[in-house]
Amino acid sequence: MIIDTSTTIAYKCSSCGAFQFTNVSLFEMSNKKESCFTCRCNGSSLVIAKEGPTDYRIVIPCIGCGTDHIYLFSRRELMACEMSVLNCPKTGMQQCFIGSDEDVRKQIDSLEKEFDELINMLGYDNYFVNTQVMFDSLNIIHDIAEKGNLFCECGNNDIELLLLSDKIYLRCKKCPANKIIYASSNEHLKNNLQTKQILLLDEGQPLDIKAMEPLMKKRDGK
Ligand SMILES: [Zn+2]
Ligand SMILES: [Zn+2]
Ligand SMILES: [Zn+2]
Repeated sequence: MIIDTSTTIAYKCSSCGAFQFTNVSLFEMSNKKESCFTCRCNGSSLVIAKEGPTDYRIVIPCIGCGTDHIYLFSRRELMACEMSVLNCPKTGMQQCFIGSDEDVRKQIDSLEKEFDELINMLGYDNYFVNTQVMFDSLNIIHDIAEKGNLFCECGNNDIELLLLSDKIYLRCKKCPANKIIYASSNEHLKNNLQTKQILLLDEGQPLDIKAMEPLMKKRDGK
């Protein structure tokens, strides 16, 4: 019988937003006080430190809220068959997956598939200032809309969504109210993650959509 003592960790880099894979051998880790895994962008690292003879402490810098989250795992938990999903306690953003290589890759593949579908739908990759932030922000708005928390001050929730290279433009279909969601930096993503509801207001300044050259129109909400 062969027992696989390695586990795969995928964490969302707090700097570039991409998932970074690491395969760790528990055997190796048990000989080290601390193991550090840096994203290929060099912008962030996940640190696993030994905490007693059979426990480990995992520290992950969070893209969602900007702080570090600490998770404690026993060796048994790290080797468990079930995949662990670590969510930011403040924003709920999925920031790390731990489990068998197969499970973790499947999970990330499905996340990346959604991402690729968006890129394919748009036809090209370089339109957005930060494609990852745009993608995550769209998902956030989608979740907010799904919970019924995206609406206009006029009471309408039939909202039109337009994508620009650096922002998402929401406008009411029944009145001039609108709202801009910025989505070009991780700072924006952090703000968007903290948004629980979006209310469109008519501030008497309808934006000149033609001058902004929207890339695409998409209906959202019901
Ligand atoms: Zn990175
Ligand atoms: Zn967080
Ligand atoms: Zn309205």
